[in-house]
Amino acid sequence: MAQYTLGNYILDTGQPRAEVLAAILKDDSINEELFYAANKVKTEQYGNLVFVRGIIEFSNYCRCLCAYCGINARMKDAVRYRMAPDELVEAAVDTAKVYRTVILQSGEDCYYTAEMLAGIVRRIKEKAQCAVTLSIGERSLEEYRIMKQAGADRFLLKHETANAALYQSLHGVPLEGRLDAQRRIKGLGFELGGGFMVGLPGQTDEILAQDLLTLVREGVDMAGIGPFIAHPDTPLRGSADGNAHKTLKVLALARLLLPKCHLPSTTALNVKGGMKNALLCGANVIMQKATPYEYRKLYDIYPGRDAKDIPLREQYEELKEKLAELNLTAE
Ligand code: SAM
Repeated sequence: MAQYTLGNYILDTGQPRAEVLAAILKDDSINEELFYAANKVKTEQYGNLVFVRGIIEFSNYCRCLCAYCGINARMKDAVRYRMAPDELVEAAVDTAKVYRTVILQSGEDCYYTAEMLAGIVRRIKEKAQCAVTLSIGERSLEEYRIMKQAGADRFLLKHETANAALYQSLHGVPLEGRLDAQRRIKGLGFELGGGFMVGLPGQTDEILAQDLLTLVREGVDMAGIGPFIAHPDTPLRGSADGNAHKTLKVLALARLLLPKCHLPSTTALNVKGGMKNALLCGANVIMQKATPYEYRKLYDIYPGRDAKDIPLREQYEELKEKLAELNLTAE
């Protein structure tokens, strides 16, 4: 536990207070100090290493109604795709030749039963030496158990926003359901990845403070914190996008509160040109797209996502060069 003095504020990470977090978020005069402190903690924990993961978005079918998301179940014009298990295993094994962790992400698509997903994970683990992270949404305890027993290592399920009213208005279901799912995941021994969006319509700095405290309370091992980006075909069309600078402040605070937590420079933040800054403000992870090209454009959760047709190895070499310019090394 540590105490940080940032301008007039004292942040006690043993007993973090929502008012202090919200005040820091509002006050831009302490940004330099905040970013410096976050980078220092990140460097103490991870040196100059950046963990690079490959993410495969294997299905854009989704039963959920998330108001911000371009693949939600109501998007009648979305062109849907599903990768067949063999195709997914092959793509994951290829990804594992370049990256040590493969993330399998999809909409909430119950076409893939727990047994199917377990079979996919088992086959990947037999053929490749890599950690497997699942990011497939909410399932029952038993379903999560089947996936864990098959060898899945980590599970990414963001709480999205810690404000119960805002959560309900965006999802049409209560926040508790999401938090319960996170607790099932954590209880089974997965490394838990949580996280939330910054800049959702109606969100305040006080809510962001609650978001940060939720990460601490739920004991996340990883947290994806990225700006909201308005999708033109969703009910939130025309809303302002989340601010990249505010996102960096939230990320930096997460680093101070959770020194060991894996914090990616999220794809949404990279869309806003924030990767370099994120890596200097507390982020220690990068997720590289490894979705087969023909599907990349269709996984249209928000606009501006990179759908470039570059072989994985080349993409990785390019990233290593960018990291070297920042004196960072890909792991
Ligand atoms: N179905 C899985 C789940 O619910 O965790 C994973 C897929 S979901 C599309 C992955 C993430 O995309 C969500 O956790 C959400 O934070 C993010 N996302 C969706 N729409 C977004 C938007 N418009 N702006 C920023 N992030 C968005």
